[in-house]
Amino acid sequence: MELHAPKGTKDVTPKDSWRWQYIEGIIRDICRKYCIYEARTPVIEHTELFARGVGDTTDIVQKEMYTFLDKGERSVTLKPEGTAGIVRMFVENRLYNEAQPTKMYYLNAPIFRYERPQAGRLREHHQFGIEIFGAPLASADAECISLALEILSRLGVKELELHINSIGCKHCRPLYNEKLVEFLTQHEHELCETCRDRMHKNPLRTLDCKEEKCREICASAPIVLESLCDECSHHLDELKSCLDAVGIPYVLDPHIVRGLDYYTKTVFEIISNDLSAQNTVCGGGRYDGLVEQLGGPKTPAVGFGMGLERLLLLLQNQGAHMGEPASIDIYIAPIGDTARMKAFELAAFLRKQGLIVDIDHVGRSIKAQFKFAGKLNIRYVGILGDSELEMGALKLKNMTSGQEEIVKFDNLFNYIKE
Ligand code: ATP
Ligand code: MG
Repeated sequence: MELHAPKGTKDVTPKDSWRWQYIEGIIRDICRKYCIYEARTPVIEHTELFARGVGDTTDIVQKEMYTFLDKGERSVTLKPEGTAGIVRMFVENRLYNEAQPTKMYYLNAPIFRYERPQAGRLREHHQFGIEIFGAPLASADAECISLALEILSRLGVKELELHINSIGCKHCRPLYNEKLVEFLTQHEHELCETCRDRMHKNPLRTLDCKEEKCREICASAPIVLESLCDECSHHLDELKSCLDAVGIPYVLDPHIVRGLDYYTKTVFEIISNDLSAQNTVCGGGRYDGLVEQLGGPKTPAVGFGMGLERLLLLLQNQGAHMGEPASIDIYIAPIGDTARMKAFELAAFLRKQGLIVDIDHVGRSIKAQFKFAGKLNIRYVGILGDSELEMGALKLKNMTSGQEEIVKFDNLFNYIKE
């Protein structure tokens, strides 16, 4: 039987993982500067968390979740997004009792969605995201955006567009929804089947439809910004002022509504034209009602999620420089069995001293060892034959300059470190 990874999943082989680690390193470094600390939550949660948290009229909950009964007949679901689990953790661990805000990030969280796999769209993907709890001010929204953009810019991503919008709150959104439903009803027969169905349950979602026809119709739909209450308008103005203050350009885009139910006020997406149809690298917003909805005290919150596979694809499409795989200080190439044992001992000795050391485990000829070493990012090859053994030294070949030198075992560390 031929074995395949499940459709829509991707391996990261040991040859490729350095690209991921490069991105992860930059993300961790920048989060540290913003005083945001890492949180980890389980890959599975009780299904109810997502039904209640993400919203049972969303595509994610209706069509895309990996849900199954475990052996104890409990319905569990593989995380289809990052926020609900984090909110559950915030509430369960009573983090709201601490001085607020509570800022956290998750990195490399596996996210599962049963979608049609295509470029930039997988069934298992990984996200980096941040969540800030207990911060009602728009500066927190701006901090999320500025952190996401700083990461993307440090990675060398070019030509991104930040789109922001406000979708109001529980006071002003119902009024807007009414206007929207009225408009959609006039065009009902032209909408796609999904939109005809959701226009009554969740009208905002139609603005997010990817069908060409629906997009055309929605282009002339009433705009949510015109229905915002004073508080939501003020919040949006504050956000714009914060972004202006640090020189972050944005497009005010009334069609950004996001695919999840929990958003209030700010929503945003960071979009690249160097990705195909799947052009959103990062999406997020404010969700002031979710903590309370999941059983915690009333707590404002804001955050985003960034798809790491999509980010890697973007970096590749733009030909961004991602550094190199880590170099190896020395590759020890023994000739003969006596030398082989000594080489093994020497490798252990040098690793203890802190060097990055590799050694032949295949029994290759010296020529083949050099050929092998030539393919790796190796600084020195150390040849260990009978004469070197007698001298208690290696013949070191500098793989960049080609220069050779005899170096005593005890001096190897210092020689290589210089
Ligand atoms: P899209 O509109 O592309 O479906 P979304 O609104 O469903 O995105 P979010 O739920 O906000 O996406 O997830 C945050 C980020 O995760 C997205 O901006 C994207 O980079 C990434 N992402 C979402 N779904 C997938 C997927 N199926 N495969 C790969 N990356 C994904
Ligand atoms: Mg989606």
